[in-house]
Amino acid sequence: MKVRDIAKKSVFSLEVFPPKKSYSPESISRIFDRLAALEPGFISVTYGAGGSNIQQNKTVELCRILKQDYHVEPVAHLTCFNSRKDEVLTMLELMKEQGIENILALRGDRSPDITPPGDFRYACELIDFIRSHTKEDEFDICAACYPEGHPECGSLKEDVLNLKHKVDAGVSLLISQLFFDNEDFYRFRELCDVAGIKVPIHAGIMPVTNKSQIERMVSTCGASLPKKLSRMMARYENNPQALMDAGISYATEQIVDLLASGVEGIHLYAMNRPKMAEKIKGNISSLLDARQ
Ligand code: FAD
Repeated sequence: MKVRDIAKKSVFSLEVFPPKKSYSPESISRIFDRLAALEPGFISVTYGAGGSNIQQNKTVELCRILKQDYHVEPVAHLTCFNSRKDEVLTMLELMKEQGIENILALRGDRSPDITPPGDFRYACELIDFIRSHTKEDEFDICAACYPEGHPECGSLKEDVLNLKHKVDAGVSLLISQLFFDNEDFYRFRELCDVAGIKVPIHAGIMPVTNKSQIERMVSTCGASLPKKLSRMMARYENNPQALMDAGISYATEQIVDLLASGVEGIHLYAMNRPKMAEKIKGNISSLLDARQ
């Protein structure tokens, strides 16, 4: 099923990544058994920033497992910056073979260890490429957006103009970068509306369960940490259970406010942690039922 149809019925989705060290069918089913039971509209699977090392890339394999064994619609992330066109074509073929219908088309982050081949500069070029090398309606395409602006862009306004260009290349749904202050998301949504971006924008929510991990994420993606959240992390950083409880409570509060404000979808960065996803879903189930 295409994401644009799923988005009409479901407002809750999850994101996972291919485990690096502990990749085994057992470890995957331990995670997927529990995440699939949460009945997400879709689960998206991340793609290595290093590009199409096809042998190593487990994204398509995990998407196949989600679709065939769990009957959960997968969205396969696909980056382009560090890939050649022929490698992207091979990935698209692989996706078609596995019945994958939805792609999150991304530029990917720059890596100091990789010299990009220069075939793609921006995600919009990947979207044009997918559109011109696949049959009409073979893939539904999602893209990333940044409520506080992409860190490499001079201003939020300019970033939204670039986003409009990307959406016009043929995007059905936007998924946002994580953010911790809903006001940033609301301001961004208004700017998108003014710019004529009319596709659904799903809010990316990452519960804080590990101080150093969040600090690393924040330094790469440029999201700001509200004082309330910094205080919470400082207070509980050495007490993992307390930090997890506080992080889940903070994320739940964010989601309740977003749903009350009519957000079109919640994309939970589940980080392969079913327990955290179960707790959040449990906290908001009746709110989601009321929306669907
Ligand atoms: P783009 O849309 O290309 O934007 C990148 C920068 O270029 C922005 O500053 C933008 O304003 C500017 N720009 C865009 N188009 C133009 C143009 N035509 N002219 C001038 N400037 C332009 N990374 C991974 O490696 N793997 C993943 O699986 C992954 N999943 C992600 C999922 C989500 C939901 C999000 C939000 C991010 C994800 N990322 C992932 C990170 C992402 O690859 C980085 O944030 C990357 O730096 C930008 O990707 P993009 O697709 O948004 O790029």
